[in-house]
Amino acid sequence: MILFFSCITIKINLCFPSIPSSLKTLSIDGHFDFEQVEHAAKDFGNRYSYLPLAVLYPKSVSDIATTVNHVWQIGGGSELKVAARGHGHSLQGQAQAHRGVVINMESLQGLKMQVHTGNFPYVDVSGGELWINILRESLKHGLAPKSWTDYLHLTVGGTLSNAGISGQAFRHGPQISNVHQLEVVTGKGEVVNCSEKQNSDLFYSVLGGLGQFGIITRARISLEPAPEMVKWIRMVYTDFDTFTRDQEKLISGQSTFDYVEGFVIINRTGLLNNWRSSFNPQDPLQASQFKSDGRTLFCLELAKYFNHEDMVLVNQEIKTSLSQLNHIPSTLFISEVPYMEFLDRVHISEIKLRSRGLWEVPHPWLNLFIPKSKIHSFAQEVFGNILTDTSSGPILIYPVNKSKWDNRTSVVIPEEDVFYLVAFLSSAVPSSTGNDGLEQILIRNKRILDYCEIAGLGVKQYLPHFSTKGEWKSHFGPHWEAFIRRKSTYDPSAILAPGQRIFQKPIAYS
Ligand code: FAD
Repeated sequence: MILFFSCITIKINLCFPSIPSSLKTLSIDGHFDFEQVEHAAKDFGNRYSYLPLAVLYPKSVSDIATTVNHVWQIGGGSELKVAARGHGHSLQGQAQAHRGVVINMESLQGLKMQVHTGNFPYVDVSGGELWINILRESLKHGLAPKSWTDYLHLTVGGTLSNAGISGQAFRHGPQISNVHQLEVVTGKGEVVNCSEKQNSDLFYSVLGGLGQFGIITRARISLEPAPEMVKWIRMVYTDFDTFTRDQEKLISGQSTFDYVEGFVIINRTGLLNNWRSSFNPQDPLQASQFKSDGRTLFCLELAKYFNHEDMVLVNQEIKTSLSQLNHIPSTLFISEVPYMEFLDRVHISEIKLRSRGLWEVPHPWLNLFIPKSKIHSFAQEVFGNILTDTSSGPILIYPVNKSKWDNRTSVVIPEEDVFYLVAFLSSAVPSSTGNDGLEQILIRNKRILDYCEIAGLGVKQYLPHFSTKGEWKSHFGPHWEAFIRRKSTYDPSAILAPGQRIFQKPIAYS
């Protein structure tokens, strides 16, 4: 240590080669790996790869605090960065650290999951816990979290650093609106408990904070009684205005449904045939006569939770609610599945795609939040002109209520009371130069973003990634100053910079 500190005073950059050996001196319960680090330079996006110097496999919160504190002591001049890696399902290297330290959050074993029952049930979990495990554990007590993502093989720390949204968000808000308390390791390596009442600025900074203010080591997540079953419903619209009017009606007031999403289909054949493997048409004869070919279709997806004993009542409620919607009657499909199967639905697709070698391909996803007042202009241009088909992946579209989002968190959303998530979830065919290739999808994404910019739609990116300070400033808009203040409070040397290409000191503070 003495050698190390004297080295700092001479010239910090000369210390860089000795960083691995200085990390080796740390007294921790887990371990560092300096050799097998390639996997930490990969993510779901499959487009960015930054090799770290070391991967920390922490066994305790104190391992993380010791490591972060050590990096803080070295000082910003070393340019050593720390990135928490949840399940590595980022799209653009957000959980990577070029020549830095990646903390493998899933190996954090300090806390056993603990479900607390009672009037206001909750579960205490590690920041590296997968949501699927939380579901399994809380179901043992007849409980479950209220707000989800469509895919559950993601970590608590990973989704809380963004927002965590799905079809339940219209009612419960995103996952960041359903957390009571966090334990966070800040940029100085201090372990701090925070909540709405205690260290609240840190609490709200970290929620939606893109991993920029600290590392979430523990979270207390709100639970509700879990239903046994789900009525899972799909139906088709050809008219966008009618589709969005129904979606907006469904998320306002006392909706019958527990989940509201939707997706767009452009120039695809056999849509209803695909549904038939898991859904029953309400009217099989009419459904068989519906021809989707070539048309742009908007599919509404709804879910209603229920317990077996309430079946009759629930069927009646659904019938009444559906009668108030304006979908094409012959395209109504209903299925009934266990709650667990509904929530874990994307994992089934993952297994299929993996078996065909189609999971680990580049994923140039584009996720946008679009103000309600602009969704029609957006749809006209993007679904009408820019996109010619939806063969490279699903396009989700659904509205949420801003009132369910807490404006004290770090997440950036549009100003209007209702805004839409539009998610272009593309998979690129490796080495293709056609429409399904990476290059063409990126060109298409850029056209969409350029259009939003030129038309002044007030769109915000979800799961954002930018390369310049100007772009980040524009993303944060009026919240930029607050972001900088929070960054300098909790990460004064800007060491926690998973998006370090963007957030490193000279760019964020200059
Ligand atoms: P990582 O990719 O490992 O990390 C994400 C970010 O969080 C990084 O910046 C990282 O440094 C930081 N981070 C990770 N752990 C911590 C921690 N403990 N403390 C502080 N910072 C941390 N998102 C939705 O909202 N809704 C969806 O429906 C949805 N569906 C998805 C489906 C699939 C198939 C995939 C691949 C992603 C989906 N996502 C969805 C996006 C997902 O929420 C983000 O990609 C999320 O970041 C992934 O979580 P992860 O655990 O893999 O995090």
